[in-house]
Amino acid sequence: MKNIIFFGPPGAGKGTQAKIISEHLNIPHLSTGDILRNKILEQDDLALKLKEIMSSGKLVSDEILNSIVSSRLTHEKNKGFILDGFPRTLDQAYFLNKYLTENKMKLDLIFDIKINFEDLKNRIIKRSFEEKRDDDTLEILETRFSEYIESTQKVSNFYNKNNKEIYYNIDGLLEITEITSKLHNIIKKS
Ligand code: AMP
Repeated sequence: MKNIIFFGPPGAGKGTQAKIISEHLNIPHLSTGDILRNKILEQDDLALKLKEIMSSGKLVSDEILNSIVSSRLTHEKNKGFILDGFPRTLDQAYFLNKYLTENKMKLDLIFDIKINFEDLKNRIIKRSFEEKRDDDTLEILETRFSEYIESTQKVSNFYNKNNKEIYYNIDGLLEITEITSKLHNIIKKS
């Protein structure tokens, strides 16, 4: 049982890797993007609000995210977790740390998948055809990438500083299988 966080800009492949590792280790995969996309299907007032924010590429409020994640973590207690897309702001990181401390839990591994903006652009264009996500256009990618630089990079820096011994940078340009095998090796040793 492991508690793992994946960081990386939109399109870096963190969702793909989180899913593979989750199936391999039988640990719940908690993708906040997927959870929010499912909430949109409910078509209530919150869904409309979420759809508007997400299709602009901006971040949904910390209040909504913190509440979603804490209820999922509580629901899946003692099974371990793979967080994909959370925490994305410092407020979310502080909230998660507090939740873990209060529940006598700790992080085991943090993977940060690195990729630059030019390479990302090519990838996102490909994914927009395959997955038909309405936040996969170049214009929205730019907003999502700046949200990542302005908010989420501060969070990964925070963890890199405070959790150095469990923090691993991964080259996002490698093939999917190469990345998976790197992750597996690190997990095996941890
Ligand atoms: P993702 O699939 O992880 O790229 O997330 C898609 C969209 O969901 C993001 O662009 C945000 O609008 C929203 N989202 C997902 N996770 C978070 C989070 N932790 N904080 C705020 N917004 C989020």
